[in-house]
Amino acid sequence: MTVRVRFAPSPTGYLHVGGGRTALYNYLFAKAKGGTYILRVEDTDEARSTREFEDLQIADLKWLGVHHTEGPDVGGPYGPYRQSERKQIYLDHAHKLIEMNKAYHCFCTEEELEARKKDLPPDENGSYHYDGKCRGLSKDESNKRLAAGEKAVIRLKAPAKTYVLKDHVRGEVNFPEGMVGDFVIIRSGGLPVFNFCNVIDDWLMKITHVIRAEEHLSNTVRQLMVYEAFGATPPEYAHISLLIGKDRQKLSKRHGATSVNQYREETYLPAAMTNYLCQLGWSHPEEKDIFTMDEVAPLFSIDRFNKSPAIFDVEKLNFMNGQHLKKLPIETLLKQADQAVPKDHPYHKQSPEWKMECLNFYKDHILFFKELPESMKVLFDDSFEMTPELTDIFSWETTPKIAEYLVGVVNNLTTPFITAAQFDDWSNHIKNELKIKGKPLFMGMRAVLTAQGHGKELKFILPLTPSEILKKRVNKIAGAMK
Ligand code: GLU
Repeated sequence: MTVRVRFAPSPTGYLHVGGGRTALYNYLFAKAKGGTYILRVEDTDEARSTREFEDLQIADLKWLGVHHTEGPDVGGPYGPYRQSERKQIYLDHAHKLIEMNKAYHCFCTEEELEARKKDLPPDENGSYHYDGKCRGLSKDESNKRLAAGEKAVIRLKAPAKTYVLKDHVRGEVNFPEGMVGDFVIIRSGGLPVFNFCNVIDDWLMKITHVIRAEEHLSNTVRQLMVYEAFGATPPEYAHISLLIGKDRQKLSKRHGATSVNQYREETYLPAAMTNYLCQLGWSHPEEKDIFTMDEVAPLFSIDRFNKSPAIFDVEKLNFMNGQHLKKLPIETLLKQADQAVPKDHPYHKQSPEWKMECLNFYKDHILFFKELPESMKVLFDDSFEMTPELTDIFSWETTPKIAEYLVGVVNNLTTPFITAAQFDDWSNHIKNELKIKGKPLFMGMRAVLTAQGHGKELKFILPLTPSEILKKRVNKIAGAMK
């Protein structure tokens, strides 16, 4: 069997992170099985669906690296891939069901249904099933009433039996007899309902596996009835657990950004986003947390989804961003940093070698490229502010000795930057000649050379600091210490 899966978003808004995850799972499953991943746009809700949102969702999917081989923008052998362009297909199939005696026209108006409800017992969910009044109408009679201009919906005859779904995540799910009554498949205006067109499309598009959100589980019983009415075999299902916030409520705007687009605009790396989404609800066979899509695709399986809801925690996503950032090749680091650092920043005036060294160091210390200007302050900022921490360090009897020595060597610098070896020489001199060791040595050097009480390793940041800045800084500090 050739695996064919689809992601079927409704273009009524931005791509939700939960939708991004569903798309990703389908895509990875297709990749793992050498199958095809399809994008189908479910835009029958004409009032809320727009082409703009469709385009935006496609752009966000592309950004995630989830590429479809069939879809509204690229075509394919089972198109059209937009439900709004398939209305006739749904109508034709509904009429086929009428011919097969599996569906019928129902002329009951909303008011009549409402009035009759009071005589019906509600089911356990408090809803009322259609009482079947039009089920027995002959086709002749229905046709006459239609010809006379009476409005009708089309209802499927719901078989009185229990349905059992073998779901890849939920296990065996029972839908007891009588759970649903004869339900509408085509509205009176000719528009199909979700449970009908979703099935017709999956069937005609030869979808073999449906991986979708758990909230669709209860729809499945109606969908199984439609397959059965056509004598068609339903696909295999995997209903994946919900994404929730830290408060265990369904993920919503009050938990922060919920659309893929927002994360994209906030400059998250797509590799981090896909890694995070993938392991939210699916577990790696080797229990790995950090991986790329290419690494995971061959290992992806439909049987490793977690049953319990997954907590979307933006701090974990941020951490993952850092993990992926540090793995980027140097060319990408350079390109991304170039964009993220403001144009007037002295970073841009430095040599390619300096930039490489700088990024090779800072990639391990940032989660996002936009943190670079702040992180690089210690390299280019010669302003000096006395803090309680510095006052303390300057009060040690060792610090003025260190300052005196460093002011001398720094003022004599003739190269634009010092080397790591030069830094070692300076600390060795202080250790061996001035006999200052340990904390007084390192904190003293840091205070004099960076004007800070703590920070990243001096051995790395000093060779990145222009000698001009070092000079200005040590002289200001020496002045302040007098
Ligand atoms: N259009 C549905 C949704 O956005 C997709 C349902 C399905 O995947 O079967 O939730």
